[in-house]
Amino acid sequence: MRLVSLTARAVALALSIGSVSFAFAGSVASPATGSGPVGGAVAVTGATRPSLAAVTTEKAQAGAVAESRRQKKRTEAKEVAAKRAAVERAAAKRVRIARARAAAKRRWARLPATKKLGFKWPAQGWITSGFGPRADGFHHGMDIACRKGSAIRAARNGRVVFVANIPIYGKTVVIQHAHGYSTLYAHMKRINVRAGRKVGTRQLIGRCGSTGHSTGNHLHFELRRNGRFLKPAHYLT
Ligand SMILES: [Zn+2]
Repeated sequence: MRLVSLTARAVALALSIGSVSFAFAGSVASPATGSGPVGGAVAVTGATRPSLAAVTTEKAQAGAVAESRRQKKRTEAKEVAAKRAAVERAAAKRVRIARARAAAKRRWARLPATKKLGFKWPAQGWITSGFGPRADGFHHGMDIACRKGSAIRAARNGRVVFVANIPIYGKTVVIQHAHGYSTLYAHMKRINVRAGRKVGTRQLIGRCGSTGHSTGNHLHFELRRNGRFLKPAHYLT
């Protein structure tokens, strides 16, 4: 019996320390001498001792719960702020778009009717000679100085009606557009389209050069309507 009470004490001590594996080791060692009283001792100490520990863990748990609640609130507040910011950004974007559209509409309304026909600049460069009278006679087109080999593009969609290398004009393309308009591109280094082909607005039709009667790389560009010469600068946008 003394041995049993000793093992019981050992078990109780082990429980108070909080080491469960230790307690089991004690109870496993006891069965040889009868484990009845051991079990009783374990039950008593188990009921009284861990309550203190339980109180502290409860406190800690309560603290953790409160902290997690605060964290949740903080994240919720952050989410609400982010949502509000997104809504405000979207509203500001709508306002910007509406303003830009209104401004574009006003610009369009101010444009002369000739600029609304959709003729685009056929080459990148600067005008070296405009439409009108010149020392060597009337200039029926506009000269745009361009870099040799740079793109020459169709001013508007239409059909290629003329492609040839002719005197004075050099390598030349003529495109027929809707409503009687036609455009001519002269002095090109290379022609990239064939007669009869349909072309889109700003489609590549050739390369800037100095063929024909020309003193430098430039595009001689003409615009006509039903055979009548028009001033290109009035039409290009
Ligand atoms: Zn010219």
